[in-house]
Amino acid sequence: MNNRNYESGSLPQFPQSMWRQTTDLPTFSKLEEDIQTDIAIVGAGITGITTAYLLTKAGFKVTVLEAAKVLDGTTGFTTAKITSQHGPIYNKLLEHFGDVAAELYYHANEEALRFIQTTVEEHQIDCQLTVEDAYLYADSEEQAEQLRKEWEAYEQLKIPGEWCDSLPIPLKAYGAIRLPNQAQFHPLHYLRALIDYITAQGGMVYENTTLEDAADNTGDGRRRLTTESGQTITCKYAISASHFPFFDGGGFYFTRLHAERSYVVAIEPEIPLEQGMYINCGEPKRSLRSAQLNGEQVILVGGESHKTGKGECTFRHYEELEKFGGQLFGAKRIPYRWSTQDLITVDEVPYIGTITSDVDNVFVATGFAKWGMTNGTVAALMFRDLIMGHNNKYTELYKPSRFKANPGIKNFTVQNADVAKEWISGKVEMIHRTANELQADEGSVVRHSGKRAGGYKDIDGRLFIVDTTCTHLGCEVEWNEAERSWDCPCHGSRFNYKGEVLEGPATVNLKLLSQES
Ligand SMILES: Cc1cc2nc3c(=O)[nH]c(=O)nc-3n(C[C@H](O)[C@H](O)[C@H](O)COP(=O)(O)OP(=O)(O)OC[C@H]3O[C@@H](n4cnc5c(N)ncnc54)[C@H](O)[C@@H]3O)c2cc1C
Repeated sequence: MNNRNYESGSLPQFPQSMWRQTTDLPTFSKLEEDIQTDIAIVGAGITGITTAYLLTKAGFKVTVLEAAKVLDGTTGFTTAKITSQHGPIYNKLLEHFGDVAAELYYHANEEALRFIQTTVEEHQIDCQLTVEDAYLYADSEEQAEQLRKEWEAYEQLKIPGEWCDSLPIPLKAYGAIRLPNQAQFHPLHYLRALIDYITAQGGMVYENTTLEDAADNTGDGRRRLTTESGQTITCKYAISASHFPFFDGGGFYFTRLHAERSYVVAIEPEIPLEQGMYINCGEPKRSLRSAQLNGEQVILVGGESHKTGKGECTFRHYEELEKFGGQLFGAKRIPYRWSTQDLITVDEVPYIGTITSDVDNVFVATGFAKWGMTNGTVAALMFRDLIMGHNNKYTELYKPSRFKANPGIKNFTVQNADVAKEWISGKVEMIHRTANELQADEGSVVRHSGKRAGGYKDIDGRLFIVDTTCTHLGCEVEWNEAERSWDCPCHGSRFNYKGEVLEGPATVNLKLLSQES
């Protein structure tokens, strides 16, 4: 590695997504009445918007319902590489699912990538789409062993990659796999164009509309969805594109998903990243791609994954990425830093399909394991096909009700043991700190009226104390200092320092126990 003499310390004080800050997004009103529609799509990220686009194009009356603002979930904070190279995944798929499924996974994601390219061309979308080589590299001897196995999988599956002994950037690698003809883009410029198409064709979008339930069958084959403020949406098909499913429907998704956060810093480099997108195959995760900001190159340095609510000193993750990027490319300035989380299934393949095997009018797409640009698009293409009665060759691979004994069962046990541990440890933990000890702009678990509570003192010295029991399933939330949020280690719900929901599955705010004005 080119160890440039890099002095850190210029990270922005507050996190902000570069994609959101550089996109003029439309706003939509809250749903205030009962409505009927062909297709109700819950969630306006890449999955929901792409599904709405495809079904609008196919002639359906489509309604998108979003709890917060469009594209303000994980999609608004992604890194937006569009690739079928999802880390060292093909060897795992071969071992656990066999060659047919592994090959299907590759083709599903390649089709999604080509679909995005074709759509950009068809609508002439100005979204910085560039074709890039994707590199998966080993940055240690240990990782080299894993990478060699991955390369064998590429050969067996005839994935058109190439083995490289080194990288075209000044980063020492113990081997790499290059996959050509992959891509990167500005995800919100792309999705904004799809939203414009949907609304121009009469599709409806509602914001600030949180869906709570989809259990009600109307008796004539339709579904009735309910919002938290009591409005109903009667539809032929309901689609959960809400990241964590807004409706469980007996699928036990809360036992089969966990959330992991990752971080991104955008650096204005002294030496440019000439080409390619890069990711290592082990931990700590390091990801690189370039992007354009005001006509100049920035390099997005990503990584530092951890389970949500378990990041401890979360600001340190940004500092590690800043150091890595700064030493490699130099950093004149760091205009943005942000972080977000994605959901991971027990066997690491997303759940895409009907919510349970005996239901045919409620679909779900979740668990993209940080590869949702293509997998979210795979979901949209599948939902379009299924609703139109067309065959889709990827349904078995992604079927949410699948059961694979290995590694699913092990991860299932670990995930649920983790949840139980979090649940219990949060309840019995001894808390010694009190809110009076908090400094300005500091948050912590504190003792309040003899009980565990969450305290945050803002920069003006005002104190906010919340009940730390997550309103989803009762685990105890933890403080995330870099985002100033309360994060739940069990299923990834997040709340701001006033206790307001930032991210589901929780839909109800934490109780605000006290607030100083
Ligand atoms: C740091 C990071 C980097 C990543 N980089 C890449 C990458 O380079 N390439 C790649 O392919 N993938 C990447 N991913 C993964 C990818 O960003 C996600 O998989 C994808 O954006 C998920 O999209 P989505 O539409 O399913 O969810 P979201 O974008 O989260 O959208 C879901 C929406 O549903 C709404 N919602 C939730 N509950 C309700 C409710 N009850 N009622 C109504 N609305 C609701 C939310 O408010 C949200 O807007 C990355 C992930 C992370 C964490």
